[in-house]
Amino acid sequence: MSLERGARGAPLDDAAGNPVSDPYDLVVVGTSFASSFYLERYLRRAPSRARVLVLERGPRRSHAWRLAHRSAVLGWPEGHGLYSSAPAGRPWITHVELGGNSNCWWACTPRLAPEDFALRTRYGVAADWPITYDALEPHYVEAERLLGVAGDDAHPICPRSAPFPLPPHRLSAPDEALARAFPTLFTPQPCARPSVPTERRPRCCASGVCELCPVDAKFTVLNELGHLYEDPRVTLHVDARCESLVIEGGRVEAVRYVLGGRPEVARAGHVALGANALFNPWLLLRSGLAHPELGVGLHEQVGVEVRVDLDGLEAFGGGTSITGHLYSLYLGERRRDRAGALIEVWNVPELRMEPGRWRERVKLKVIFEDERRPESRVALDPDDDARPRVTYAGPSDWTRRGIDALEQDLAPVLAALPVERHLIGPPLATEAHAIGTTPMGDDPETSVLDARLVYRGVENLQVLGSGAFPCATPANPTLTLAALSLRAAAEVFG
Ligand SMILES: Cc1cc2nc3c(=O)[nH]c(=O)nc-3n(C[C@H](O)[C@H](O)[C@H](O)COP(=O)(O)OP(=O)(O)OC[C@H]3O[C@@H](n4cnc5c(N)ncnc54)[C@H](O)[C@@H]3O)c2cc1C
Ligand code: SF4
Repeated sequence: MSLERGARGAPLDDAAGNPVSDPYDLVVVGTSFASSFYLERYLRRAPSRARVLVLERGPRRSHAWRLAHRSAVLGWPEGHGLYSSAPAGRPWITHVELGGNSNCWWACTPRLAPEDFALRTRYGVAADWPITYDALEPHYVEAERLLGVAGDDAHPICPRSAPFPLPPHRLSAPDEALARAFPTLFTPQPCARPSVPTERRPRCCASGVCELCPVDAKFTVLNELGHLYEDPRVTLHVDARCESLVIEGGRVEAVRYVLGGRPEVARAGHVALGANALFNPWLLLRSGLAHPELGVGLHEQVGVEVRVDLDGLEAFGGGTSITGHLYSLYLGERRRDRAGALIEVWNVPELRMEPGRWRERVKLKVIFEDERRPESRVALDPDDDARPRVTYAGPSDWTRRGIDALEQDLAPVLAALPVERHLIGPPLATEAHAIGTTPMGDDPETSVLDARLVYRGVENLQVLGSGAFPCATPANPTLTLAALSLRAAAEVFG
């Protein structure tokens, strides 16, 4: 597709007669973590005359609106962002609205461990990242500052060059027992649920319904970074669906979108896609790009819940919804054989129906890592023009081995608690962490993006989000994708 040139070289209309804008320095697609952290870093250095266009497919909704429409927001019906994959029917959740899934996330923000960046080299599994922990560390610090992360500075696994912005939350009694048993492997969970009031948010009150926080305490794009979209350099269009990119001669020339039912074309000096690991590859495929790994390798972590009934030890005394992280199944040579896992200690009421023993139960969630499989992918759907066809073939054998060994591997953890009985549940339907469909890497044959998240062969196109992860390590992805967005903007714009 080419843009028709006017008398002075500026395109007036595209070939189909749609209006074409004056050039924007930057066009950003999406308004959730990936886009907002990128935009934050870009605007910090951009001149006052910079022109930025932001396209958000969904509407703008206030926190009050979300509280008033609680069942609609949390019901995840089709059309509100639940995308199922055939044949397994696995849900992949995208909240299509200003702020995206920042509105519904639980705000758990661990860093990746240093060894996560070199799993292929160290253990012969999964994949290496094209950057090291040390290269990302300053951006982790910056992302944690913007998120307002609460945590313990003496983190046993992830070295830090700066303190956490907020102090850690109070631990529960089961946390304290695990901390005593595993002093070098246990830490209070780093999270963007404030342990003390911040400038814009109240303290988390441990109500444990974080998908829609009643007091707006957890970080969302709207409550902390909404000002980005009021910046005079930024034009935000909500209800504006990006359709594809116009790519000519190794550059994005323009972005096609639909606003109010009307097709529009925005000329773009640079484009950053933040539509997530499902919709970024979909947009790139619709734009005629065809790297063999594009859309391939969709995967995520696999969660397994363990209910532990305790003998005389009461849970639910902690300061927030999820209070502890235990790394005893995460690291080291065990990963050669089976996937590592991060253990979360939950602090939400799961009451035991026995008078006098209501609180003698704790939920542990064991989150296994996984790797890319070629069978799982995002592709164009000839029968649906609005969303991708998603195929998910289930976890890898490596991850299945980790899950199968959980009963045995959990024994030392349970030995640290006064356990009456425990029950390991089936793998959960989803962790809502789509990963791996636009992998970054050093080898142009096997990676869609380079280490700056620049699409191979299209120098003015960056593809953000967890699609860029070469593999899904046990840590939740959002802090890392936010730090990668900060780094991506810094690498290109200084
Ligand atoms: C219930 C739940 C709990 C979670 N809890 C955690 C947690 O505790 N910790 C953690 O690390 N992660 C968590 N996650 C995952 C986390 O939400 C995602 O990692 C994160 O939201 C991804 O950010 P993103 O910016 O890449 O994409 P998204 O948040 O998915 O946002 C994509 C944005 O792009 C927009 N968009 C899509 N297509 C288009 C288009 N064509 N044109 C214009 N705009 C478009 C969407 O409307 C949306 O605004 C959770 C997810 C869910 C669902
Ligand atoms: S625990 Fe309650 S107050 Fe804290 S972030 Fe979650 S919902 Fe909000």
